[in-house]
Amino acid sequence: MDKATVYPLIGIPSRSDQTSRSGTPIFAQNRTYVEAVTKAGGAPVLTPPNLDERALRAIYERLDGLLLAGGGDLHPKHYGEAIHEKCGQSDEARDVVELTLARWSLAEGLPVLGICRGIQVLNVAAGGTLYQDIASQVPGSLKHDCWPDYPRKYLAHQVTVSGDSQLAAILGQSQVAVNSMHHQAVKDLAPGFRVVARAPDGLIEAIEDHDHPFALGVQWHPEELAEDAPPMRRLFEDFVSAARRWGNESAR
Ligand code: MN
Repeated sequence: MDKATVYPLIGIPSRSDQTSRSGTPIFAQNRTYVEAVTKAGGAPVLTPPNLDERALRAIYERLDGLLLAGGGDLHPKHYGEAIHEKCGQSDEARDVVELTLARWSLAEGLPVLGICRGIQVLNVAAGGTLYQDIASQVPGSLKHDCWPDYPRKYLAHQVTVSGDSQLAAILGQSQVAVNSMHHQAVKDLAPGFRVVARAPDGLIEAIEDHDHPFALGVQWHPEELAEDAPPMRRLFEDFVSAARRWGNESAR
C-alpha cells in the first residue's frame, strides 16, 4: 500500500565551495533555504553538483519538489551567447545538474521553485536568455546588486505583480517590497513562461508556467524574508503543498 506523503522531499542542489575550516573542497548551501522549506512542512534534501545523469535521475525520481537556489552566474553558452566581460565565474557541473533537473521538472510536472539564480536556470532550461550584467546592459536600470553593500533582508525595490497570476494569489497583494541581490536577470522569456512581476525599471522579477502544477521563479530572495513577512512564507508553504500533492498523486 502506498504511504501518504506527509513531509514531501524537496531537492535543493548544492554548490561547490572551499570554505571549510581545513580548506577541503565541500558542497554547501545556505541554511535559509533549508530552514524556509522545513518551516513550510517540507523535508529538504541537499544534492551534490557533480553527479552523472543516472545518479541524478535516481535522486530526481524520489523527489516531490525541486528548489533551485541562488548562486553564481550560469555560463552564457547555455543560452547561446559569448561571455560578457562582466559575467561572473561559472560552475559547469552545477550548471549541468541544475539545467537537467529543471528540464525534467518542467517537462514532467514536478513542482519547482526557482530563486534568484533559480529563476534564471528555469528560463534558460526552457529556452530563454539572460542579461549577463544588468548595470552595463540595461540603461537606466535600478541598483539590483545590493549585496554585500546592504544586509540580505534590505528591501531594495518594489515589484508589481500581475493580478491574475498564481504569485499574486500566493502573496495576496499586487505590490510587494523585495530584497535584490542579483546582477543578472531574465532577458528573452522562454516559451511556456509568463512574466508575472516586474521591478519599477521594467526588469523581470517573476515568471510562471501556467500549464504546470507549480513552476514559479522569483528574482528576489524570499528565504531571507520568510521569517518576518507572511507573504514570503506563503510562497514556501504553497510550494511545499504542491509538492505534497505531487507526492500523493504521482504513481510510485
Ligand atoms: Mn531586483
